[in-house]
Amino acid sequence: MKKTEKPRLNELCSIRIGGLAPVIYYPETNGEFCALVSSLSKKDIVLIGGGTNLVFADEVWRPLVSLREMPAVIDISMDGVVHVSAGIALAKLINEAAQAGWGGLEALAGIPGTVGGAVCMNAGANGACLADYLERVEVFVPEQAKIMVFEKKDLALGYRTSVFQHNNFVVLSAQLRLKQDNPAKIKAAITENISKRFSCKVKYPNCGSVFKNPSTGDKTAGMLLEEAGLKGTYSGGLCVSEVHANYFENFAGAVYSDFTELCKICYNKVKDLCGVELELEVKVIK
Ligand SMILES: Cc1cc2nc3c(=O)[nH]c(=O)nc-3n(C[C@H](O)[C@H](O)[C@H](O)COP(=O)(O)OP(=O)(O)OC[C@H]3O[C@@H](n4cnc5c(N)ncnc54)[C@H](O)[C@@H]3O)c2cc1C
Repeated sequence: MKKTEKPRLNELCSIRIGGLAPVIYYPETNGEFCALVSSLSKKDIVLIGGGTNLVFADEVWRPLVSLREMPAVIDISMDGVVHVSAGIALAKLINEAAQAGWGGLEALAGIPGTVGGAVCMNAGANGACLADYLERVEVFVPEQAKIMVFEKKDLALGYRTSVFQHNNFVVLSAQLRLKQDNPAKIKAAITENISKRFSCKVKYPNCGSVFKNPSTGDKTAGMLLEEAGLKGTYSGGLCVSEVHANYFENFAGAVYSDFTELCKICYNKVKDLCGVELELEVKVIK
């Protein structure tokens, strides 16, 4: 199995923040993955997908595991049931499904990262989310050293949340059910959704939305941050984007303390001026 000792964490996440971890493993089969996690004494690992929704601390003590080298499976049946491995890029799944005339996920086109990360985050855009199409997932449960199948009802899926954010279970693969549609129509929607994103593309490394949209009121986190005058506010090498106030841009080698400081400034100002307590969407790995 491939592994890298002392990987640089800023190279493993899209916002390019983080110091060192002891090791990152790249298992190549389910068997290798299960044996690896079972052999780790505390069974306490950090699962990393595409690293597009993560911020790492200066030092992370847990070993990292990536499913990137596992067999890449996208199996689409005649009735639109899709089996897909967790390490596959969400974009690849969306494109292959479109090619075969299976749609629904085009609303999510342009969200970076892997299927495993998208399940854990219940990623979504344009009024849709992965949960709309998810039926069940194959999960490795480290404490029992067992692979189990969890039905959708057991996944506690909600707005950018799932059961996987509250335990160390690992998504190995997912089963989705898509809708039959005209491939050209699905592809046009994919192109449109991706170009919408490009039109407000931020310049420097980032992790997408930093805060969740509040569950009450009609303002998004971005609107509140903008209203509080936070665009352009910075801490060290990290600033609140001028393009999209809920994005932080790493314009000059930002470190973890820049992130925590900028979060604190944003949280306090929005709380004082708008009376709303923002909650982080991005996952902080310490
Ligand atoms: C430019 C940009 C735009 C974005 N736009 C959107 C958007 O429109 N909508 C949206 O929802 N998100 C968006 N995001 C955030 C991010 O892309 C999504 O949350 C994505 O689904 C994360 O996938 P990932 O593979 O990168 O996960 P990672 O960032 O690697 O991990 C995220 C979480 O998932 C866990 N995880 C990863 N793989 C597994 C697994 N196999 N089993 C269990 N847990 C796992 C990790 O431990 C971590 O807690 C955006 C990010 C960027 C940089």
